[in-house]
Amino acid sequence: MDLVTVRSVRTPSHRDELALAPGERLLGGGTWLFSEEQPDLVGLVDLTALGWPDLERTDQVLTIAATCTIATLVRAVPEPDWTAWPLVDRCANALLASFKVWNVATVGGNVGTALPAGALIALLVTFDAVAVVWTPDGGERRVPVERLVLGVRSLDLAHGEVIRAFEVPTAALRGDTGYRRTALSPHGRSGALVTARRDDAGFVLVVTAATPRPLVLRWDAVPDDAAVVVALDAHRDWYDDPHGSPAWRRAVSTRFAQQLRAEAEAAPQCQAGGAA
Ligand SMILES: Cc1cc2nc3c(=O)[nH]c(=O)nc-3n(C[C@H](O)[C@H](O)[C@H](O)COP(=O)(O)OP(=O)(O)OC[C@H]3O[C@@H](n4cnc5c(N)ncnc54)[C@H](O)[C@@H]3O)c2cc1C
Repeated sequence: MDLVTVRSVRTPSHRDELALAPGERLLGGGTWLFSEEQPDLVGLVDLTALGWPDLERTDQVLTIAATCTIATLVRAVPEPDWTAWPLVDRCANALLASFKVWNVATVGGNVGTALPAGALIALLVTFDAVAVVWTPDGGERRVPVERLVLGVRSLDLAHGEVIRAFEVPTAALRGDTGYRRTALSPHGRSGALVTARRDDAGFVLVVTAATPRPLVLRWDAVPDDAAVVVALDAHRDWYDDPHGSPAWRRAVSTRFAQQLRAEAEAAPQCQAGGAA
């Protein structure tokens, strides 16, 4: 839709042009920003001209630029030992968006929107990714994505802070992963999305879409079924919107978590293709 209050669109090519004036917002692919009214918005600062490389690899870290599109991430060719990589495709498809959205929506924009059903949030949290945040004074700070997302449309980002990239430890990419998702309608937004990762460091379950912010449960090894049920039972903050009631979300999330636990227990560790 037309954003009728917008008076300027800036396209910085250097970091020192990034400072946000009052009423300006960062623009990634624009698929969320242009999908509904933004009454307080007076200007857009387009990040896509900054020329950040989409993906950079070292032995230890995969760095995903905030401006990397979901389509580019899905098309990336993983290293042979990145057994967790199938989770990228699964989470990207959890969006159920059209190819038009996929091709312009950015990883940073998905996290920046901070929706409970933020499928790239689920992916990055499951991979233990850390966000690299540029601060307005020219510095930067790092914050795990699981702590960056505070709630529905709420991030641990001050005005003027910019997500530059996400750093994924390649050790996490060598783990096994699992995935379960459900929605009330075939093409509806996710009502519950549960992902899992197992590697030498232990077992992690991540619940999104059913909770306002990611619920992350960690164990040193694959737990027994009762421990998973107790952990889910102890969680009180289940999301309530037209895509599902809190009681339903809690029930399906618990069931999915039990299934992923059982799969992780049954699977030989770190087999290509993951635990799901
Ligand atoms: C048809 C359709 C279906 C959708 N389905 C889903 C879904 O199932 N799940 C889901 O999570 N979302 C869904 N969305 C919304 C989705 O989050 C966005 O479309 C997309 O992921 C946002 O990416 P973008 O690059 O277009 O972000 P933009 O629209 O450009 O920006 C989104 C927000 O992030 C901020 N932002 C962007 N980049 C940065 C950055 N580098 N640092 C800090 N802030 C930044 C912007 O200021 C803005 O507030 C859907 C949207 C559409 C149109």
